[in-house]
Amino acid sequence: MSKQPFIPFEINLETFNSELLEKLEHNRKTLIQLLDIKEKDYQNFIKPFEMMDERLDQFFTPLSHLNSVNNSEATQKVYADALPPLTEYGTEVGQNLAIYEAFKIIKEREYNRLNQEQKRVIDLNIQGFELSGAHLDLGPKERLKAINLRKSELTNEFSQNLLDATNAYELIIEDAKDVEGLPQSDIESSKLEKDGKTHYRFTLQMPLYIAYMTYGPSKHYREELYRAYTSRAPQNATIIDELLRVKMEMAQLLGFKSYSEYSIATKMAPSTQSVIDFLEELATNAHQQGQEELEVLKTMSKEPLESFDTGYYSEILKKEKYDIDEEAYRPYFEQNSVVEGMFIFLHRLFGVSFRAVDEKLWDEKATAYDLYVDEKLRARIYLDLEARESKRGGAWMHNWQSHCRDENNHEQLASSFIVCNFPASTKENPSLLRHDDVVTLFHEMGHALHHMLSTVDENGVSGVNGVEWDAVEFPSQFLENFAYEPEVLKLFAKHHENGEVLSDIMIEKLVRAKNFQSAMGMLRQLEFSLFDFKLHLSLYQGDEVQHLLDRTREKTSLIKPPSYNKFQNGFAHIFAGGYAAGYYSYKWAEVLSADAFFAIVDQGIFDTKLGKDYLNIILAKGGSQSMQELFNDLLGREPQTQSLLRLNGIG
Ligand SMILES: [Zn+2]
Repeated sequence: MSKQPFIPFEINLETFNSELLEKLEHNRKTLIQLLDIKEKDYQNFIKPFEMMDERLDQFFTPLSHLNSVNNSEATQKVYADALPPLTEYGTEVGQNLAIYEAFKIIKEREYNRLNQEQKRVIDLNIQGFELSGAHLDLGPKERLKAINLRKSELTNEFSQNLLDATNAYELIIEDAKDVEGLPQSDIESSKLEKDGKTHYRFTLQMPLYIAYMTYGPSKHYREELYRAYTSRAPQNATIIDELLRVKMEMAQLLGFKSYSEYSIATKMAPSTQSVIDFLEELATNAHQQGQEELEVLKTMSKEPLESFDTGYYSEILKKEKYDIDEEAYRPYFEQNSVVEGMFIFLHRLFGVSFRAVDEKLWDEKATAYDLYVDEKLRARIYLDLEARESKRGGAWMHNWQSHCRDENNHEQLASSFIVCNFPASTKENPSLLRHDDVVTLFHEMGHALHHMLSTVDENGVSGVNGVEWDAVEFPSQFLENFAYEPEVLKLFAKHHENGEVLSDIMIEKLVRAKNFQSAMGMLRQLEFSLFDFKLHLSLYQGDEVQHLLDRTREKTSLIKPPSYNKFQNGFAHIFAGGYAAGYYSYKWAEVLSADAFFAIVDQGIFDTKLGKDYLNIILAKGGSQSMQELFNDLLGREPQTQSLLRLNGIG
């Protein structure tokens, strides 16, 4: 009897956690049996080990999905109860050196007889263990443990200082004239009644801070807020010093020259120099247009433009020349017609077709589709696109099943969820999207297709599994670029009442609005990326950190920031988040996506050989090879930064 290709979406919250505990117990026993095998090989050890992981994920995913899209006290409780045993199990497996030894023995014995996918599974597993120090002697291992502990204390302190400084500040504005021009909702939330008078209280918290910097008419107050914001948490300077010291020590214990080198070990960038060259090339090419954009901006202000003025005058300039009226676009983007149009587009781009499936899901607005390529069933996708109270905000793709072959060589197909928060439709009113929503939908579909159209037989490197960090956003950004192409938009952008197609002029306006001050924006991102990456290349301490930032700004900054600006003390992405020596990844993936996008657009978008190649190389091979190799296979050359400049209208 053949199995159903997709797990039905059923979840019993009452029995979930007892089932989970049973599964974990079962896995523990299986693992002991696997480790007991005398002659371990890929088939008898790694395959069942990897499938154990896959099945646990498959069991847990519906709960985390439900907790995000139909959140209730019940899902919260079951979810919270499930996390500790799961985390404990994960730590146990991650620290089990017998597993690491088993992978190494199998690599020695069998590596040359294995296929590319299996080799990649072995390499990534061994790398994972070694990056956490599994191969080290006891002394360095203990030191690494201490460093990790200290690192988490320091990052915690860094965020806490930032949070305290953010909360400790307030600016009271007494005159209503000084808040004129702010959106009414921001004025309302800043109102403070004091001694029978209305005052306006601004803080460094988002979104109020941004609101004043964008719309606040008083230069004086903008500067005061800006000064407070960019000089927050001066005590973080010593934390930065220690963090940089321990990260360098950690990287060197693990055999790397620097933390940047350690960071790219799991990324697609081939060398630290390639990252620097890449960022500097973009900066050099964006500089002139950035300068021109600034000159235009300067004409908006009577006085010399300063760092705390750019947001304010940019907003005025945008309103005058580049603004689009979102409400005028909405009638052209009725949700059902956008989704169907996207399916037609994907069929003409890749030859993939979508067929609706009648399946009972978690909400009546959610839908399921089967994906076929050349009449062969390949995957299932679940769309849950409309906002509702029980759903977490934002948009995301969540992968569920991965394409693979199990222990008995049975093929398993892939599935994934796309979740958005579009306006809810009612019987009377259709759900009308903003163009931004259309872009979001294309973006998440790019992630989903990357996962679902995999043909890899090893789940650990199938679809989005095992894809390098700086390449993950490549397929999503690639697809989102098409949401600005007239030929694609005209497939579905039709007025929901009279069928009129969105005009070329309106499409052109979308592109112009997207590229508003794109060179200035790019230079800013490059400043963060270059500073972050170079800072982790050798050991910078004390004033050297500021000097490095100043030197970086010579290439990226168009207006010299005031000397009180200590941006680094608030750079939480890299000092309190996971982006250290990785901030460049955003731009890196953008270049790949722009480059592949234009290669197809220049051939006419639809029914191209390159579209099929993209499906068979980039999407089908998932994480089974470095994206560096896959990209080369696709275009026969290295990625070119020129494509990103072209996409952003630079040059
Ligand atoms: Zn994404």
